[in-house]
Amino acid sequence: MRLLVVSNRLPVVTVEEKGQLLFREGAGGLVSGISAYLDSLRGSSLAGPQYRWIGWPGVTVAEPGPQAHVTAALARLRAHPVFLTDRSMDKFYHGFCNKTIWPLFHYFPSYVACEESFYAHYRCVNRIFCDAVAPLVQPDDVVWIHDYHLMLLPQMLREQRPDATIGFFLHIPFPSFEMFRLLPGAWRTEILEGLLGADLIGFHTYDYTQHFLHSVLRVLGHEHTMGRILLPNHLVKVDTFPMGVDFQKFQAAARQQVDRTGAIPDAALKDLKVVLSVDRLDYTKGILNRLQGYELFLEQNPSWQQNVVLVLVVVPSRIGVDQYQEIKRQIDELVGKINGKFGRVDWTPVLYQYRYLPFEPLVSLYARSHVALVTPLRDGMNLVAKEYLASRTDGTGVLIVSEMTGAAKELAEAVLINPNNVGEIAVALRTALEMPESEQMRRNEVMQERLRRYDVVRWADDFLSQLPTLKAEQQRLRSRLLGVPARRRLLDKFRQAPQRTIFLDYDGTLVSFTDHPRQARPSRDLLTLLRTLAQGAGTDVVLVSGRDKATMGDWFGDLDLALVAEHGAWIKRRRDNWRLAQPLNNGWKSSLLPILQTYADRLPGAFLEEKEYSIVWHYRRADLELASTRVKELVDDLVSYTANIDVQVQQGNRIVEVRCGGINKGVAALTFLPKEGAGFVLAIGDDWTDEELFRALPVSACTLLVGNRHTWAKYNLRNHEEVLELLREMSERQLQECGS
Ligand code: UDP
Repeated sequence: MRLLVVSNRLPVVTVEEKGQLLFREGAGGLVSGISAYLDSLRGSSLAGPQYRWIGWPGVTVAEPGPQAHVTAALARLRAHPVFLTDRSMDKFYHGFCNKTIWPLFHYFPSYVACEESFYAHYRCVNRIFCDAVAPLVQPDDVVWIHDYHLMLLPQMLREQRPDATIGFFLHIPFPSFEMFRLLPGAWRTEILEGLLGADLIGFHTYDYTQHFLHSVLRVLGHEHTMGRILLPNHLVKVDTFPMGVDFQKFQAAARQQVDRTGAIPDAALKDLKVVLSVDRLDYTKGILNRLQGYELFLEQNPSWQQNVVLVLVVVPSRIGVDQYQEIKRQIDELVGKINGKFGRVDWTPVLYQYRYLPFEPLVSLYARSHVALVTPLRDGMNLVAKEYLASRTDGTGVLIVSEMTGAAKELAEAVLINPNNVGEIAVALRTALEMPESEQMRRNEVMQERLRRYDVVRWADDFLSQLPTLKAEQQRLRSRLLGVPARRRLLDKFRQAPQRTIFLDYDGTLVSFTDHPRQARPSRDLLTLLRTLAQGAGTDVVLVSGRDKATMGDWFGDLDLALVAEHGAWIKRRRDNWRLAQPLNNGWKSSLLPILQTYADRLPGAFLEEKEYSIVWHYRRADLELASTRVKELVDDLVSYTANIDVQVQQGNRIVEVRCGGINKGVAALTFLPKEGAGFVLAIGDDWTDEELFRALPVSACTLLVGNRHTWAKYNLRNHEEVLELLREMSERQLQECGS
């Protein structure tokens, strides 16, 4: 297997020496995680895994000559550059990524800028990435796309490489639908469809996964079963994979204490209890709340003054963006205020550093700090919280962590706080600083065990190891599709048979679904097709529908077809009148109608369709989530009300139908077949009611399900257009026969 990792930025550091650009491997969380994963594979495989990283190289290179030079230099680091112009970077990265998606997905709607030009560049850059990745993909490769910069890429790549194995992982929260829906309609549809191009989509927490599935249902109408979404051409799995850290690496570094003085000299920390705060500068990180909480803590606990110090490391980030400059100004001001208010000649309450710390000084600081104070207002995961725990070799130390981080979901033994409540932060600080060591160790043992077991290697392995199983499942589904050889055999049998019977369902099989059943009138083309087919010598076409006989008669009465209405209650043979299939009683309708009507009233968008021997409760236009609850309640009610009546309750494609017992499409269809030698029999349908048809027909019949689910039918077709195409071909064969 070769892994193609795709992310916005390559994990390289660019340096300029003597006018030449040089690149060195960088050390971000993702790159060290992926490297650790690849190393772990290397131990178990003689061949050793291969990987390539594809992304923006960190510099703008406009001319083809220098671009070739950069590409060659990066190839040595197994990196492949995607070149972007300054303007693209501005609109795509600084614009749509940082000013639209970042604030929206972190629940800061008032910071969101929705500019058409941002989105246009976002689409364009995703396309540029697609054009860069697609030619690199070889048959056994796995493409693993990372993060919110590239949400359209999975679908774009799928279009170019339909068989590619594609995984996508989102490193930030996926927000609730109420937040996501703030995006303009076309964007949110495109983003969800873009993501669904992947085979596997991963999120850090169960909540994010559910939010995504919910948005897919609300925006695109796709339901899921245990995180699996079955699309017409594709099966996608959506699951939760909380990213871990390289636990052993942090443990080892903390044990060595390689750089005790790198970040803050010991002398500055003296015998003080150290509270550590480390983040990128970002309004999502809750740094201001943290400082206010610390200020309140000092105010409420004078005995802790001169005994504690807050080490505040803020890493410069997104310096050009207004909100970031503003937050930096406010942090500077608040640190000054706290130090001015409480500081003494020999004690500074906040030691503030505005810079990036490399790995070793950072680990020393983790190892040296009694408390880690992590208070984001929103954070996809927060690795700092996990790294702190991983660096506590003696098992002591207290983690205070915000409930709004993904990490909090796994770290229940930490001191959890609501970052919006400054008072809670102050109380948590006191709890943490005064917690007995035995208690600290008891809590940490549980969390460290979790972090040790589910480390970053396990995370990557967990994600990537699901892909082959998914591909096999997709293959199984695909093998059920009516392929070229099976289609040819079917057409040959059709042509050779002297007697042919074709059973066709209507809604979902010959036409697509509409909001209201009345809107699904057959087109002139469809009527012509059915007429031609039915005119063939020895060919009987039977339309087998759940529709009422008046509609069937109105739409198809002029054609030389047989019709079955109300799922088999009414039968109209060719050139004959409608007849009841068997004596039926519909006295039950008056007692069930009020129940069904009540449920229709309780679900906006739901409505009833009353037929002679059945009632249908439709909910296609309703809120599908509320509908799923109402459907369960309704079916429960109906089952108990109908215990002593001869009726059947059946769920179909966004409907619940109640109809007389003993009636079904299978029973009706059999009345059209001679007992012996049925000849060529074909049945095509899409709904659960068609399964009865498929089951009842002789084994020699060719049965086709429209859609992508498990079925009694022998083969699947993708959609109603494929049905029409097949019928057209059959009708052409008949015409050729007539001509020859
Ligand atoms: N980090 C670092 N040096 C610093 C501050 C942070 O190397 O001075 C690293 C830290 O080790 C962690 C990452 O930056 O791996 C921050 O990840 P996190 O999930 O906490 O926040 P993000 O910045 O991704 O929102």
